[in-house]
Amino acid sequence: MTFWPHIVVATPAHSGLGGPLSYRCEQPLAPGRLVRVPLGSREVLGVVWEQAGQPPAGWDAAQIRPISAALDGLPPLSAGWRQLVSFAARYYRRGLGEMALSVLPPALRDLDSIQLGRRLKRLDKKGNKPADTTGDDPVVQADTRPEPSDEQQAVLDALPTIDKPVLLYGATGSGKTEVYLRATERVLDEGPTTQVLVLVPEINLTPQLEARFRARFEPRYGAAAVVSLHSGMTPAQRLSSWLAAHAGQARIVLGTRMAIFASLPGLRLIVVDEEHDPSYKSQEGARYSARDLAVYRAKVETEHSGQRCQVILGSATPSLESWHASEQGRYARLEMPGRIGGGSLPRLRVVDMNHQPKGATLSPPLLAAMEERVARGEQCLVLLNRRGYAPVLACDACAWKSQCPHCSAFRVFHKIDRTLRCHHCGFTQRVPRACPDCGNLDIAPIGRGTEQVEEQLAGLLSHVRRPDGAPARVARMDADTTRHKGSLEAQLDALHSGEVDVLVGTQMIAKGHDFRRITLVAGLNVDAGLFASDHRAPERLFALLMQAAGRAGRDAGQSRQSEMWIQTWHPGHPLFHALKRYDYPTFAAQQLAEREAAAMPPFGHQALLRADARTQQTAQAFLQMAADLAEDLPGRAEVTLYPPVPLTIQRVANVERAQMLVEAASRGVLQRFLGAWQPRLLDGRQHPASRGLIRFLVDVDPLSV
Ligand code: ADP
Ligand code: ZN
Ligand code: ZN
Repeated sequence: MTFWPHIVVATPAHSGLGGPLSYRCEQPLAPGRLVRVPLGSREVLGVVWEQAGQPPAGWDAAQIRPISAALDGLPPLSAGWRQLVSFAARYYRRGLGEMALSVLPPALRDLDSIQLGRRLKRLDKKGNKPADTTGDDPVVQADTRPEPSDEQQAVLDALPTIDKPVLLYGATGSGKTEVYLRATERVLDEGPTTQVLVLVPEINLTPQLEARFRARFEPRYGAAAVVSLHSGMTPAQRLSSWLAAHAGQARIVLGTRMAIFASLPGLRLIVVDEEHDPSYKSQEGARYSARDLAVYRAKVETEHSGQRCQVILGSATPSLESWHASEQGRYARLEMPGRIGGGSLPRLRVVDMNHQPKGATLSPPLLAAMEERVARGEQCLVLLNRRGYAPVLACDACAWKSQCPHCSAFRVFHKIDRTLRCHHCGFTQRVPRACPDCGNLDIAPIGRGTEQVEEQLAGLLSHVRRPDGAPARVARMDADTTRHKGSLEAQLDALHSGEVDVLVGTQMIAKGHDFRRITLVAGLNVDAGLFASDHRAPERLFALLMQAAGRAGRDAGQSRQSEMWIQTWHPGHPLFHALKRYDYPTFAAQQLAEREAAAMPPFGHQALLRADARTQQTAQAFLQMAADLAEDLPGRAEVTLYPPVPLTIQRVANVERAQMLVEAASRGVLQRFLGAWQPRLLDGRQHPASRGLIRFLVDVDPLSV
């Protein structure tokens, strides 16, 4: 007997072949099975999407090619998984095959049945043997499992009664992680096959979280019970985690946004930690939001399994979208306002830079406060969202600046290796000895980055002694100092052990670390976030400063004297008033009122059509043509198309970029319009106006416009 399965394969983006392709085979293949099939002259990995009894109408059965092989031994991908992928492809406007294959581990593409069988056997051997915590080999630190606080207990009691997505609004240090751990425990107790997915923004920045999950669950469920999934892993590691989750050995998957697509047949709980973090929105390929997909996936898994799959979104500064949903009652909001140990958040000190000596990076009162802290043996964090020594190098005598020849941006001066580096395209050169244009020897840095602040602080604090008599130690942590494997861990250790007194760094230092002796946090140069054209900039700044504040005063004994310093030229800005009381609800209400007045998300819905081309003119011409092609589309009257504009950074690596904003009052209207528009966009590429177009893409629910 012959079968005619519909199979999805990775077709090139925009090939127009979005849907499944028809093949033939002599055995029935369940939907979700992995197969190898011929595509053109290659053999590729595919996923059976549907089983059909007949060859597709209008086709000669003899033209339909047989599959090459079915990957045996691997259970099919579940209906829930397939529905998630179908939805993501449709919603984010990508081909189904491209979407499905891009979220499977790349190493899977190169395996045949025999190699796969070997992998699975190896996994079985690793098995579910509980890790040894009693022997001499302390691989896993036994965990202490604290008694929940009253607030934590109240949340844990409420969770089983809730059928909606949960927004866990908990202050930094309120112990959200313990809630995740306990909720996970409960799910694993429900049966031998239940699974939990925990999403974190950047796994490298939260080694403590992973350690705590391992410590809590490996002793009981085995060394294979907890796996991670993130882009820093080798293809082989990723495959092994993926297989463990798919086959059910792994009970907990900890990962970054890509892990939302992990195959988890027993999924009963999804946690999205720091749900407001922008890294949950992909900025390449399909521009999906892992947070939004988590909410969707929980619903789908519940429908398919008939058992509740809960989703918990956790944050001290929720995204305005999630906050709004909880105000409307679409999400259930659970709150944990107190910090463990009863400590309070640091007192806010706003320094008016209009009244400070000209050109000072650190105002005298802030410097004095830091000296005092260090002399007492306490630690300080200095936050500056700009790495390198100086953002621009300029000639005193002529107009030369360190412009990148390939981008519409300046190259950043890195003093450590005396280079000019473009942070957009990576183009790097030695710093010229003299001005390349006029030969003047005086070329000087303008503005400051973390390298320079580190250097200045080391000088300014050189006379300060710690209680042990040693000189103050200043260190820096940013993408430059943590590039090498293990260097981040080493730096965190140095801070924890008290070797470092003052840590200068980018936003990376504000995240998740549980430092004990930090009593002062300072934010320099925060004003960019107040007036940026991007309407989400204030939301991000507020979240960053709240998160940074949460690093201070974690020990209740010190929290009374801990401080958060902000240097600003606009001390009267309402954002600082809300920050002073760490009053997120008031800040959110203000922001939401502004958004509502402007019909912006979450009150309106947006998508961007972006075009990349050799010239700005071509990019914009394509967008204009796209707008013209939309004129007679159904639903055109219900959407607003804005004129094409260049991106803020218009040229990157010699590619000119332009975009066009599409707005609609509802998601449904926007989706219907985009669905009708897309085939015309694909056709439009053949139009003479598109000559020189490199690519176009659609970004639904863009993070910045
Ligand atoms: P959050 O993620 O909400 O900022 P954490 O989960 O990092 O907070 O918790 C802050 C600190 O409190 C951690 O050191 C954690 O070990 C500790 N902690 C959490 N819950 C408890 C508890 N019930 N009893 C004692 N300590 C706790
Ligand atoms: Zn010059
Ligand atoms: Zn560049």
